[in-house]
Amino acid sequence: MNHKHHFRSFAQNEFGYIGMCEDCRVVNVAFNNSLFCLSLDQFDAFAEMIFDRLAMQPFGTTHGKELLLPTPMPNYFLLFSEDDLANLCALLTEAAPVLEAQRILDLSQRLS
Ligand SMILES: [Zn+2]
Repeated sequence: MNHKHHFRSFAQNEFGYIGMCEDCRVVNVAFNNSLFCLSLDQFDAFAEMIFDRLAMQPFGTTHGKELLLPTPMPNYFLLFSEDDLANLCALLTEAAPVLEAQRILDLSQRLS
């Protein structure tokens, strides 16, 4: 994401932030060292996947981080602890109403 578009932040905590590029309408979910770039529709699916732990598998080790989420890269997985997941859910919950409003705005602009 190397561009100089106008970025608006909707949620932030010490682990990351959620915002949107107002020019290309891409939602950025930054969490720890991961960055998810999503459309508004993809954001809803992403939030549901995280809230409901869809596609997550238990990954039992002695190190915590016991939830494993596959990625499209076959050799790369995301690992979450319960605390990680709670922190990510807090960000998603905070940003969701604003993103819903953005989506309604997009829809009404498409219809006018
Ligand atoms: Zn942009």
